[in-house]
Amino acid sequence: MNVDIVTISLGFGQCYLLKGDGVIAVDAGEPKKVGVFARALETAGINPHDVKLVVLTHGHWDHIGSAREIKSLTGATLAMHRAEAHLLENSLTPLPPGVTPWGKTFAALLKIFMPLIKVPTAKVDLALGDDGLSLVDFGIPGRVLHTPGHSSGSVTVLLDTGEAFVGDLAMNKFPLRLSPGLPIFADDPAAVVTSWKMLIELGASTVYPAHGKPFPIAVIEQAIASAA
Ligand SMILES: [Zn+2]
Ligand SMILES: [Zn+2]
Repeated sequence: MNVDIVTISLGFGQCYLLKGDGVIAVDAGEPKKVGVFARALETAGINPHDVKLVVLTHGHWDHIGSAREIKSLTGATLAMHRAEAHLLENSLTPLPPGVTPWGKTFAALLKIFMPLIKVPTAKVDLALGDDGLSLVDFGIPGRVLHTPGHSSGSVTVLLDTGEAFVGDLAMNKFPLRLSPGLPIFADDPAAVVTSWKMLIELGASTVYPAHGKPFPIAVIEQAIASAA
């Protein structure tokens, strides 16, 4: 089965629509982006009610900000790892520590703005465990995998054909990074490497980060080798 990939810019980050026999979304962008999301669905010729699942890769504000409104628009099930469901349900906006010199500076800058950011709360309908979720029932040949490191409840959507929607397990956008690579913020950098090794083992071939353009897995293989 062919899966169409539609990229929707929702502020600082992106959301991906995956359309196979069914439609799912990966991530929900910054707050107040539901209008952009709705227009992108229209352009893609997708009825909002065809979106049956929204997988939130993790609980940071730029990934869950419009989850509540997107759920209202589509009626989709909101899925998120159980370790971070409380962030969306309680409008919490933690920041992971920087792991590179620029990451540390940027994290300090972001901290100044965090009190201005309000994420509307929403109930997580499907709290994911460590064994993830098959997407076959949603018409998508792939699965959700627990890939901690950037945050403890980070997940990846991996299609059977190797496309990996990894949230912030990789980054490829200014001002985060100038070129594709590992995240500049992470709660557990060692877990980032372990999660990547698992994804490579499972056949990840093209990386779709939440910030920036897709890139080949070879970039990550090199980054992991030089980090070792
Ligand atoms: Zn993040
Ligand atoms: Zn992010």
